Amino acid sequence: MAIVDKAFLTEMGWDPERAVLSPPDGHRLVVRPVCQVDGCSTTATNARRICFSCQARLAAAGLGDDQLGLLPPPGRSRRAPATCVVAGCARERVSGPAGLCRAHDDQRRCLGVEIDAFVAHSDTVGLPASGPCLVGACPRQRRHPSGCYCEAHQLRLRHARRADPALDELRWRRTEPAASLGGQVSLRGVDSLVVARSSTGSASAASWNGSRPKKPTCGP
Ligand SMILES: [Zn+2]
Ligand SMILES: [Zn+2]
Ligand SMILES: [Zn+2]
Repeated sequence: MAIVDKAFLTEMGWDPERAVLSPPDGHRLVVRPVCQVDGCSTTATNARRICFSCQARLAAAGLGDDQLGLLPPPGRSRRAPATCVVAGCARERVSGPAGLCRAHDDQRRCLGVEIDAFVAHSDTVGLPASGPCLVGACPRQRRHPSGCYCEAHQLRLRHARRADPALDELRWRRTEPAASLGGQVSLRGVDSLVVARSSTGSASAASWNGSRPKKPTCGP
């Protein structure tokens, strides 16, 4: 990654651990149609420029496309998988509303208590991260340390197996796309030279636009 300007990578929200780019909304080099609802950063490629989640919220509230201003902003950012709300827990939460990782959510269900009581309980302790999902392109954690895949890929694998009982799972891991994360681009599983070249291409475009000169430097 030495051939790419570090400041440019920072500007594009590069996370080297997860190999994910998170360009800021409205960046001059990234044309991403963002949902037009206030406070929503989800990609919306349809003609209405309203993401599926906001379409559902509009319908539930009985509002039309010309009444977007009456819709409250979505409750949470969809840009990254958030971590579990248990103090010191490094695992990703199962889903936004759940707030807990798979292990803690299972524990809470067993105990039959509400999330607030579970989090406050002295026996509830944080867990170390589960390790990466084995799908090459996926930046998420596995559901369990002993498992192989994140929630989304576990489900996708089940569907893929149903469609093709002779599925080559190792090949599937190499070719399956990452689970979608609003506004993020996963470069996991992509050869590092290709990653560097794609980023350099964007950096050169920035320079060409005259907005900020970026000199790619040749590293060893
Ligand atoms: Zn939206
Ligand atoms: Zn947890
Ligand atoms: Zn995954």
